[in-house]
Amino acid sequence: MNLARFPRRRYTPHPTPLEPLTHLSKHLGGPEIWIKRDDLTGLTGGGNKTRKLEFLVADALAQGADTLVTVGAPQSNHCRLTLAAAVKEGLKCRLVIEERVPGTYDPKASGNNFLFDLLGVESLSPVKAGTDLAHEMQRVAGEVAREGRKAYVIPGGGSNPLGALGYVACAEELMAQSFDQGVAFDQAVCASGSAGTHAGFLVGLLGTHAHLPVTGINVRRPRAEQEGNVHGLAQATAELLGLPAVPRESVVALDEWVGPGYSIPTDDMVEAVRLVASLEGVLLDPVYTGKAMAGLIGLVRRGHFKKGQRIVFLHTGGSPGLYAYQSVLQS
Ligand SMILES: *Cc1c(COP(=O)(O)O)cnc(C)c1O
Repeated sequence: MNLARFPRRRYTPHPTPLEPLTHLSKHLGGPEIWIKRDDLTGLTGGGNKTRKLEFLVADALAQGADTLVTVGAPQSNHCRLTLAAAVKEGLKCRLVIEERVPGTYDPKASGNNFLFDLLGVESLSPVKAGTDLAHEMQRVAGEVAREGRKAYVIPGGGSNPLGALGYVACAEELMAQSFDQGVAFDQAVCASGSAGTHAGFLVGLLGTHAHLPVTGINVRRPRAEQEGNVHGLAQATAELLGLPAVPRESVVALDEWVGPGYSIPTDDMVEAVRLVASLEGVLLDPVYTGKAMAGLIGLVRRGHFKKGQRIVFLHTGGSPGLYAYQSVLQS
């Protein structure tokens, strides 16, 4: 693998911390749990999309674009970070907001929605669930073109092979830290949504011959569908890097912690968010990392991850979303 062959902007000037969660590990009485703090990446509020945007925005600039167009849910961290990258680069940004759960779009909501306004989004187009999002983004790009400008369209979650390179880079960074700090991991756990993080991370671990299996915890889709999505994107990412095919059995995306649906709170999520905040001072989020950590805790409690093992949890960010869910999370 040679990631230096791909144009990249740098938004995080240092590796994100890799830390033990001593109190949580003791509380659960199972394996030793560590955390990779990708909630502390650069750009406003941090999170996993920052790594994908390093490659995507470099491509946008190479193509001479002056406007980023993307799509996300009403509390999208991806939209916040795409807008933040645009601000940093002196570009404009237009967002398509998909009301994935009917009735959840509130233009006055707190959290990420508030930050869209504060960071100066150029336009925001709310659309209903089931809308053809690629078509909607092309419509917005057309508006930009009619003003004599040039749009660069980024897919939902920044999840295409170029975006996934951000998580190939994260895997390389994690393995270097693991060696530096003298800690070897038996398993990695991450949230699995639009699939770019899970796919890129998996390809990076396979490409570095890390022998570190990844368990994805789904936040939206049933297991078979999500594993198909992750595998497809992992294959395309491996191809971009000139790596061999990705074994289908290396893709694991469990769906037992989704609950009633994407972004809908669950009791397990609330427990995980409150537990990690009060024991470790680390903020998870209600939509992704709260459910992913609920999955990790569930797997420890049922004996899937055991004492003597060392697990690394990839913290993909999202804490600004907490402020839109205060009523669900407060005791
Ligand atoms: C987008 C997101 C994820 C999921 O990453 P994907 O690459 O979309 O699968 C996880 N955590 C947070 C906080 C996110 O914003």
